[in-house]
Amino acid sequence: MSTVVLKGVEKVYEGGVKAVHDFNLTVADKEFVVFVGPSGCGKSTTLRMIAGLEEISGGELYIDDKLMNDVSPKDRDIAMVFQNYALYPHMTVFENMAFGLELRKFPKEEIKQRVEEAAKILELTEYLDRKPKALSGGQRQRVAVGRAIVRKPKVFLFDEPLSNLDAKLRVQTRTQISKLHKMLGATMIYVTHDQVEAMTMADRIVVMKSGFVQQIDTPLNLYNKPNNKFVAGFIGSPAMNFIDGNLYQNGGLHFKDKSGKLDLNLPDMVAAKLQTRVGQDLTMGIRPEDIYDVRFSQRAGFVSKSKLTLDVVEPMGNEIFLYLALPAAANAVATAAAEDQVVARIDSRDIPETGEDLELAFDTTKAHFFEKAAEEKLIV
Ligand code: ADP
Repeated sequence: MSTVVLKGVEKVYEGGVKAVHDFNLTVADKEFVVFVGPSGCGKSTTLRMIAGLEEISGGELYIDDKLMNDVSPKDRDIAMVFQNYALYPHMTVFENMAFGLELRKFPKEEIKQRVEEAAKILELTEYLDRKPKALSGGQRQRVAVGRAIVRKPKVFLFDEPLSNLDAKLRVQTRTQISKLHKMLGATMIYVTHDQVEAMTMADRIVVMKSGFVQQIDTPLNLYNKPNNKFVAGFIGSPAMNFIDGNLYQNGGLHFKDKSGKLDLNLPDMVAAKLQTRVGQDLTMGIRPEDIYDVRFSQRAGFVSKSKLTLDVVEPMGNEIFLYLALPAAANAVATAAAEDQVVARIDSRDIPETGEDLELAFDTTKAHFFEKAAEEKLIV
């Protein structure tokens, strides 16, 4: 059993910078939890507080029901893997992996057995006698992971472990860490700024922004039911489209963007939840895959059609991203802000021409609506 509990954990750095506010989380035994958010949002600070590398300014941290606030890092029974590997250059792979156990005065035979076992899991057996400089980046990162595994800690902590690897290796190592998690049945907490890593690896994701937790949920729930506009825009690529406008009644309920160019009618199910919002300024969020070209789609169901001008085409091979112009409001200053563009993600076929007017279907059953107020909370 290895659980990690954070209750109202806070961090104030010297000089008064509050990096983490009221962080509450229970990580279950064997769970893989990912902290994700833009640079500077407090992910590493939180992880370092769990590791004991950073003092906790407020709140409580428990590992297996034991209060850890004042326990030194070496007595917390955790192992941390860093972005920069931090291997000893003058030691072999074996020695690097064995070092922590030697410090803890483990018997030689047991050290050998644990290192060999970890090397086997990580496919490092043939490199045990090499020095780190004779290894590739991916192999070095595996040695760093191996050094954590041999300790058989209660909890593994990872701080952006893949950032120094190239794109292909990142994907490979990502799947290896996922496999390792299952194989070891270990509790893991993993920090990344990359939402794809978070989505593919996590049992649950903690989305952070400016030191505040925005939402804690499974990858699919974050995708389908984001708490607010920030989470909705952070999870998913290309990102969700956000269109400012308001609602009006005309037979059924309609959403009209600021310019009046986009006018979508909404299905009863959605309309029922928005009745009290008629006339208010709102932001509609719709994912690129929920907008499609009517001429080339078999999709059925409730849609609302609109004609938009094609700005940019990005053929990806298996699909095409279309960037469509949404004119700014008549009285607004012209900008190239994302709000003025709608991205559609359509099946691959003949590539349409830039400048073409396309009739697109918006699947408004999948649309979200956010308040324009400070926290931009989800309404539907
Ligand atoms: P992330 O890991 O999400 O990129 P960090 O946890 O590293 O973010 O940083 C969170 C905030 O705390 C940032 O504003 C950062 O500048 C600040 N910070 C980090 N370390 C220190 C420090 N040692 N002293 C003062 N402020 C710090």
